[in-house]
Amino acid sequence: MSINSAEIICVGTELLMGHTLNTNSAFLARELVSLGISSYRQIVVGDNHERLAEQIKESASRADLVILTGGLGPTTDDITMGVAASVAGKELVFDEESFQNMSEYFRRLCRNMPKSNRKQAMLPEGATILKNNNGTAPGAIFEYACPSDQDPDRVVHFVLLPGPPSEMKLMFTEQARPVLEKMSDSKFVTKFVHLFGIGESDAAERISDLIDAQTNPTIAPYAAEGECMFRVTQRIGKDEEEKDLITPIIDVMKERFGQCIYEIGTRPLKQVAYDLLLEKNKTVSFAESCTAGMVSSEFVDIPGASQVFMGSVVSYGNKVKSNLLGVSDDVLDNLGAVSRECAQEMAEGARKLLGTDIAVSITGIAGPTGESAVKPVGLVYLALADEKGTEVKEVHLSGNRSRVRHVAVLHAFNMIRMRLLHE
Ligand code: AMP
Ligand code: MG
Repeated sequence: MSINSAEIICVGTELLMGHTLNTNSAFLARELVSLGISSYRQIVVGDNHERLAEQIKESASRADLVILTGGLGPTTDDITMGVAASVAGKELVFDEESFQNMSEYFRRLCRNMPKSNRKQAMLPEGATILKNNNGTAPGAIFEYACPSDQDPDRVVHFVLLPGPPSEMKLMFTEQARPVLEKMSDSKFVTKFVHLFGIGESDAAERISDLIDAQTNPTIAPYAAEGECMFRVTQRIGKDEEEKDLITPIIDVMKERFGQCIYEIGTRPLKQVAYDLLLEKNKTVSFAESCTAGMVSSEFVDIPGASQVFMGSVVSYGNKVKSNLLGVSDDVLDNLGAVSRECAQEMAEGARKLLGTDIAVSITGIAGPTGESAVKPVGLVYLALADEKGTEVKEVHLSGNRSRVRHVAVLHAFNMIRMRLLHE
């Protein structure tokens, strides 16, 4: 069945009180336009069971699609999933996979998962679950049989998304949008352009002429942690002739962004690095200080990682840096563990110890403690050693401990990519 009309409901008392600006509505409305779905109303409701239920029923009585954002958190005022499910006559059931995803999210942040988060794995029976790749709350898409006088078989689609804009946008783009595209009367062709080493606003500025002039295809930027992405979508009407309007846009992007583009498609950065290692028949190892195994752990998420990945040394303490990797006392005593020279000796030591073609090292100050006047939190050195020598990179990362470590991991994968691109 096709979807023609939609209403957007944003849930949160902070929105009603003006403490948070409702940017989700604007984003979703633009997305609906590009999907050829008429968006007829945008509504804000507080975290109130009765008023929310009433609003969902009212919107569902008019629109084919009701998109809700906010109120999917773990606390008692987060009621959207339960209220929407009860309007649709669905029970909430425990979803093991979502629970595991949440556990993994907390593990990556080195935090214990609070008991209250279990609630977020309670999802409507039979729903399509939307994974949260930027936070904890999963989203959901499900149907509500809502007969009308004209149509006894009338079905309304509910799409539930988390409130935080970074989570909501990514979830919508990657998972909800493709489902809605299938339900729209037009046909859509989408390409994702992934960039590393440039911020979202910088990137958008470099192609502001394309963004300002966009009609079809539409171009939308998205920021994820440490990287950014553009969605380029061409809409082809039912009776229109198919002509590729995307390639010329992507050609301009390639010209403007060069090697900052790591992928046109859906592969994450680590997969791009892995594919290059496989293609060039190279093995890799890591020497990790501030990331303490995160690079290796992320890398072995890739099935078949053993074909290129040999092992790592988690050299968190200086003794391990010197005893296992052979970092000199001179470097450790005089320049410190977070230094260009230490990164270099770590990478060279790991390459020798583990016998790989390439070794990448990471040493940095993840914070919040440990900084000095000359070495601020976020300062990270990475080195890549191979048969041609050793290249060292100094980066300055912003954000808290978990973000610094996460982005350092991405830099490690990007170093491999850049090195092998030039092979
Ligand atoms: P919630 O999913 O309700 O726990 O929302 C978490 C946070 O997301 C809120 O505190 C806001 O900062 C943000 N947020 C929720 N709804 C919106 C919205 N419509 N526009 C922008 N930010 C939002
Ligand atoms: Mg809320």
